Amino acid sequence: MAYKINADECIACGACADGCPVEAISAGDAYSIDASKCIDCGACADTCPVGAPKAE
Ligand code: SF4
Ligand code: SF4
Repeated sequence: MAYKINADECIACGACADGCPVEAISAGDAYSIDASKCIDCGACADTCPVGAPKAE
């Protein structure tokens, strides 16, 4: 399993990418998670100010 960022909620602040231990998160108009790299640690969800990363 992997986390997924809800693009409609993401404000592209970058906090999740800075905290991801495996550099699975890419920048963009909305940030996105590479499911093949994500180790399901939940750090991005804990860090995000708007709750955009969701456990799948
Ligand atoms: Fe990175 Fe952890 Fe978020 Fe997966 S759950 S994208 S490993 S911070
Ligand atoms: Fe988007 Fe949340 Fe990541 Fe900021 S921390 S880039 S709002 S998903």
